[in-house]
Amino acid sequence: MEKEKVLIIGSGPAGYTAAIYAARAGLKPVLYTGGQPGGQLTTTNDVENFPGYPDGINGPQMMMDLQKQAERFGTRVHFALVTAVDFSGWPLKVTIDESKVVEAETVIVATGASAKYLGLPSEEKFNNKGVSACAVCDGFFYRGKEVAVVGAGDSAAEESTYLSKLCTKVHLIVRRDEMRASKIMQQRVLSTPNIEVHWNAETEEILGDESGVTGVRLKNTKTGEKKNIAVQGFFLAIGHKPNTDIFKGQLTMDESGYIKVIAGSTKTNVEGVFAVGDVADKVYRQAITAAGSGCMGALDAEKFLAAKEALVVH
Ligand code: NDP
Repeated sequence: MEKEKVLIIGSGPAGYTAAIYAARAGLKPVLYTGGQPGGQLTTTNDVENFPGYPDGINGPQMMMDLQKQAERFGTRVHFALVTAVDFSGWPLKVTIDESKVVEAETVIVATGASAKYLGLPSEEKFNNKGVSACAVCDGFFYRGKEVAVVGAGDSAAEESTYLSKLCTKVHLIVRRDEMRASKIMQQRVLSTPNIEVHWNAETEEILGDESGVTGVRLKNTKTGEKKNIAVQGFFLAIGHKPNTDIFKGQLTMDESGYIKVIAGSTKTNVEGVFAVGDVADKVYRQAITAAGSGCMGALDAEKFLAAKEALVVH
């Protein structure tokens, strides 16, 4: 059985930063990327708020740079999925791609969060046939077409603005009479001529035929009035859910499934298991805070290993 000192699950800014720190500490970490190598930043366009990039940086580029930096110090990056864990004993056990079991002295969980869907059957029916949760990934396919975006946070604002450059028109569907997005991003949306905001609007149904999405039926939450808009693309930007299914029953979580850590640390309820980034943070959820907590995770893992070693020596 393969044995690791530090095994990192996830390849967003949290995972790669943990890898950089652990590798530079001589711990020879192994990192399993998961199904979306690079994580959520690979679905974003320009990152303008990560310190050190005065002109902004492209999300996918940033993740490639982080991978390179982690590998430069000896991190082994594996493009594979962790499908199960067994934290009932120590060393910890991690199953890769439902087949190989690896033993690890420490595990750093950096599995992040994934896009939420509305839960409409029509949304499932037209998934990848006009329905998408990633404008940057799929926007290209809707050049010169009319699309809708649902949501009212920074993601919705960013995706609408991005799509407005590719599409003839963007309908932004906002369920209340205000947006939660930051003022600067709201201003961008409201000053873009080909974005129309539909306030107090609920998506009742996504309409379509065998060619894919053809429209959306909206219901005004105040008046009950219904209207159809003709669009060929429907983009979700309504937030995220933490990727913690494989840890259920083993790591303590809050009611939304975010992993609970001991305040001021990345320690979970299991010794030797640390949680970093969005998987343990529903408040800040920024690339920079994820990276910062990745650093904390590596330092916590290093301290844990040093204490274990001290016990063996004395
Ligand atoms: P948020 O949780 O901030 O916003 C989700 C939005 O979706 C809310 O406005 C919410 O409406 C709406 N919503 C939720 N469920 C539904 C539903 N069923 N139907 C219709 N609307 C719904 O998520 P984001 O992904 O926008 O942002 C997450 C974090 O990432 C934030 O901290 C944000 O600042 C950050 N971010 C930063 C970016 C940047 O700086 N470049 C870019 C993208 C995100 P309601 O307001 O009514 O609750």
